Amino acid sequence: MNKLFKCTVCGYIYEGENAPDVCPKCLQGADKFVELNEEDANKVYRSDKSNSIHMQIIRLAEKIAKLSQAGIEDNLDPMCVAAFTKAKDEAWTIKQRSKAELAGHMSKGKW
Ligand SMILES: [Zn+2]
Repeated sequence: MNKLFKCTVCGYIYEGENAPDVCPKCLQGADKFVELNEEDANKVYRSDKSNSIHMQIIRLAEKIAKLSQAGIEDNLDPMCVAAFTKAKDEAWTIKQRSKAELAGHMSKGKW
């Protein structure tokens, strides 16, 4: 496991042997970085895959919502419109559930 350094100004997490000379996000100097302890570094590494899956699910849900909207506008018949409307609502739920999980992870240092 590599060392992780966190920018105390913006929260950017840097991976390397030493803190970067300049924060890639907020441009503060190396003195603004603190090294994460093993427990906090583990949270970051351990949550990386799940966070990525949530982001992919969010993108897919956005595609489903967009397709469903196109189906609603096509308006072939009432049953189709009802099915697309339900799919659009369900996509919103899926998206928001994953977003809530991501927000929870971030508040716990899992990012
Ligand atoms: Zn920064």
